This record gives sequence, structure tokens and C-alpha cells, in this order.
Amino acid sequence: MPPPHVLAFRGQDRAERRPSTRAAGWTHFAFTSLASLAAVVFAASRVERVRLLEALVVPGTFLFANLVEYLVHRGPMHRRKKLLPILYERHTLRHHRFFTREAMACESAADFPIVLFPPVMILVVLGGVALPVALLLFAVATPNTGWLFVATAMAYFLTYEWLHFAYHLPERSFLAQSRLVRALRRRHALHHDLGRMAHENFNITFPICDWLFGTLGQQRNDDRDG
Ligand SMILES: [Zn+2]
Ligand SMILES: [Zn+2]
Repeated sequence: MPPPHVLAFRGQDRAERRPSTRAAGWTHFAFTSLASLAAVVFAASRVERVRLLEALVVPGTFLFANLVEYLVHRGPMHRRKKLLPILYERHTLRHHRFFTREAMACESAADFPIVLFPPVMILVVLGGVALPVALLLFAVATPNTGWLFVATAMAYFLTYEWLHFAYHLPERSFLAQSRLVRALRRRHALHHDLGRMAHENFNITFPICDWLFGTLGQQRNDDRDG
């Protein structure tokens, strides 16, 4: 059972949110999944006869996305900036108050929008990041490199959304059962400790940059299992 201050915040948030229904939660999840998958499949379908050097765009994009995930989460999502204060408000003031370390799970599908990015974010990632970089790659490299960048970037975005979603499902749910998801979920639960959230475990997916920059938060002796 979530603590009283979390229950109170959740009640207020649900009352102010329109619509705050299970159907709206599932629609949001379906839109994020299908729109991202459509972008991945379309971009991948444009790739023809990849050369080895072109294929290196895939691991390169993966590492670049891991760095972006880390920097945006450590920066504007946890430190209020003049540019895009909405990131701090949605993440630190809302997501981290709705879900705390001892209350990580959604109570119903109506809570999914507090985990997922707003649907418009897909357009921001596609139009603001994936397409400009792809156009640059079309111009200075080859079409294959551009399409591989779009496919990998959108696949990474969806991986972020699905993993974060799995961490905030009830522990008994099917998606939260695998060993990998349980291990990553424990890391994210440590990040949901209010005393630690601004200091540790900024990677939501794979903790590569946390390891690289020395912000990997570990379970301590006085910790309960998250
Ligand atoms: Zn979270
Ligand atoms: Zn956070």
C-alpha cells in the first residue's frame, strides 16, 4: 500500500487529469508502441545491401542514445532549467511524487500516462532529432546510414518506454518477471528514492553511462529490496 502522502498526490493528480480513464491509458500505450514500431519498420524497410561500415551506425546510435538519455535525465529532468522547465515539472515534480521507491507500481491503466512520455514526444524525437540527423547522413554519407540511424533511434526510444513501463507495473505482472527486467527495475527503484534521485542511476535502460560517469547507485546494507 503506498504511503499516505503518495496516495494523496495520486488522488489529486487523477482528479486534475482529463481524461483519467483506463481506456485513455491503454490508448496512450498503444499509440506510443505502434507509432514507434511503424517508424522503425518503415526506416528498416528502406535499407538495402548494407556494407559493414554502414552497419556501424547501429552500435554508434545505440551508444549516442544512451548518452542522450543520461544527460537529459541527469540535467533538465532533475534540475530546473530556463529552457524546457516542463521536463523538470513532469519528471521531478510529478513522476517522482506519483511513484516513490516504496510505491513503484501503477494502480491501474489510468496511471500509464505518468510513466510514458506524452504522445507528442514521438513527433519531437522523429522530427527534431531523427530526421535532421538522417538528412545530414543522407548528404554526407549514404542513404543506408540515415535510415539505420532513424530505425535504431526509434527502436531505442521504444525500448526506453517499454522498460520504464515494465518497472512501473505491479511486480507480479508478466512483463516484470524476466531476470533482466527485475535487475534493471531494482536500479530504477533506487533512483526513485527521493534522497538519491538527483545523484544516481540516470540511465533508464542499460546503465552504460552511469557506469562511465560514476553514478551507478548500488543497493546498500540498510536498503530494503526495491
Ligand atoms: Zn520511473
Ligand atoms: Zn528521475
